[in-house]
Amino acid sequence: MTGNDRDQSKKFLYIYADCLITKGAKRTLVYNTSSGEAYFLSSSYYIFFELFRKYPLTYIYDIYIDSESKEEFTEFVTFLINSNLGIMLENIDSFPLIDYNWDSYSQIENSIIDVNEIFHDFESIFNQLDKMLCKFLLIRFYSDKFTELSMLESIASIPYLSDNISILGIQLMIPSSNNISETGLLNLIKAYPIIRVIYVYNSLEDRSVNDRIIFMKQNLTSERDCGFISESSILLEKSLQLFIESQNHNSCLNRKLSIDQFGEIKNCPAMLNSFGNIKSTSLLNIAENEIFKQKWDITKDNISICKDCEYRYICSDCRGNTVNGETHSKPLYCNYNPYEGIWEDH
Ligand code: SF4
Repeated sequence: MTGNDRDQSKKFLYIYADCLITKGAKRTLVYNTSSGEAYFLSSSYYIFFELFRKYPLTYIYDIYIDSESKEEFTEFVTFLINSNLGIMLENIDSFPLIDYNWDSYSQIENSIIDVNEIFHDFESIFNQLDKMLCKFLLIRFYSDKFTELSMLESIASIPYLSDNISILGIQLMIPSSNNISETGLLNLIKAYPIIRVIYVYNSLEDRSVNDRIIFMKQNLTSERDCGFISESSILLEKSLQLFIESQNHNSCLNRKLSIDQFGEIKNCPAMLNSFGNIKSTSLLNIAENEIFKQKWDITKDNISICKDCEYRYICSDCRGNTVNGETHSKPLYCNYNPYEGIWEDH
């Protein structure tokens, strides 16, 4: 053995911490959260990612790879290094595993508020959400009844009434209508930067203005038009945080509180179970209700079919629209088959 061979024999193949490896029934997903690139391998390769952490590469070659498979294994290792998914290192202990515990300072992290025929008391809602350190709001309008600029402005101005409000961003979803022009929306965002994005659904075309105003052909007629899961939507979610949160909690409902178009307080507006109406119930009481919080902990590992899917920690969930309406069944609007590794036609 030469000196160089001896050096090589000590080296580990370190897979970067931001590259997430998930084993599915048919495929293993290697997802680089920094670049957003996804690679699919046979599920049989998953074991090697565990071995890389424990043993030097030469040891793995010697003990785990038979002579016929050595060339294939070398190609696999070369692929990982050339794809910037890992690097050869002598001291892997200097790179401890990342902490997969998840927590948040917010009692409620995000909220959906639906509006149709009733204009809610937004000042009261914002004040209550602020007490729970809520960070993000999505406000969806199902008609153009309240989408004049002055109404939207009255909502967007509320966070500016207080010095230290917790809300970091608001997204609006409004129908395309003659009430409101593109210039009007741009001026609104300029005046109230807390509005991160305005989605204008039922538009003539799909287009974006500076990533702040998104015109979409897709229509939104009710809270049931939600929870569509596609390959492109999943791979947009390149977040290590989402991966960690999804291992511990539900990727849609965790620390979420929703108010439906009638003022009913729910986990999600599409769900049937109401915990009270905002006219008579405090949001804080609901956020402390143990039954309300139960849904926060339904991970993809508890959901049939999803538990065998390689996308399960980067895929948003939907508990409002599920197969047969069951609590632990797969989202209704997902046509991925993890046992075949294919997206099926609807
Ligand atoms: S099967 Fe489940 S985890 Fe997989 S893509 Fe569909 S919804 Fe996501």
